[in-house]
Amino acid sequence: MTLGDWLLRARARLTAAGIQSPKLEAELLAAHVLLESREWVLIHPEAEFNELAGAVLLARRETQEPLAYILGKREFYGRTFRVDPSVLIPRQETEHVVETALEILATTQNPKILDIGTGSGCIAITLQLEKPDATLFASDISIPALQTARENAELLGADVQFRRSDLLDGWDTETFDLIVSNPPYIDETEEIAHEVRGFEPSNALFTTENGTFLYRKLAAESIGRTRLGLVLEIGYQQGETVQKIFQSAGWETHLIHDLSGNPRVVVATPGSKMPK
Ligand code: GLN
Repeated sequence: MTLGDWLLRARARLTAAGIQSPKLEAELLAAHVLLESREWVLIHPEAEFNELAGAVLLARRETQEPLAYILGKREFYGRTFRVDPSVLIPRQETEHVVETALEILATTQNPKILDIGTGSGCIAITLQLEKPDATLFASDISIPALQTARENAELLGADVQFRRSDLLDGWDTETFDLIVSNPPYIDETEEIAHEVRGFEPSNALFTTENGTFLYRKLAAESIGRTRLGLVLEIGYQQGETVQKIFQSAGWETHLIHDLSGNPRVVVATPGSKMPK
């Protein structure tokens, strides 16, 4: 079968499965089978295509398995990260965490940064590569996730020190210039897409107390541990709640909004009466 014919067939099947960008995804799946770029796929409709190899990937996507797991990769901040079901697939909104951290650190030389719940390593690795004088530490509670993050650091040439830890537990009394995190913030009872709940690691997505449990722990545990504060991703409806949690623990806070005007990041800086 020719590539062009397969693309048409794949597109129809992905459409029937309710996939949002069926043409693009069909092209990416074909590119993956052929070990070629999407551009190559677009200009070689006459190429011979291995229908069987394509069918396996197509069937996986029809079950709503995320494309990133099928391809084994996802772009984040202009770089390609390896992903597998042990890690959350990096999201575009998480780039706001990176941008905000870089702005806060613009005038700080050799900052020491901790990324909590590093998952694929996307935040820590990007910060290290964008700010080469920074010393990056990153932790996760999941050993398989740390393995993937280490692979990504190696592939992308980033110097990040990884350690298994539950929030700040594994870091003694060590202090940092900045703590960044995209913690799990979805309540376990919330209804979310099968594509997410059915495939991504639940320990990267869910927590208790209406999705605020880890913000509460971070607000308490980070006191005295960070010179400039924390940069945290939040759910788009959590702005007020998370700010209040941090303010009650003595932090000063402000929100960063995404392009659609939704709050996406909370910045918490040590309050004036807080122990240093
Ligand atoms: N830090 C990773 C990311 O932002 C993983 C986050 C998580 O597992 N909750 O994608």
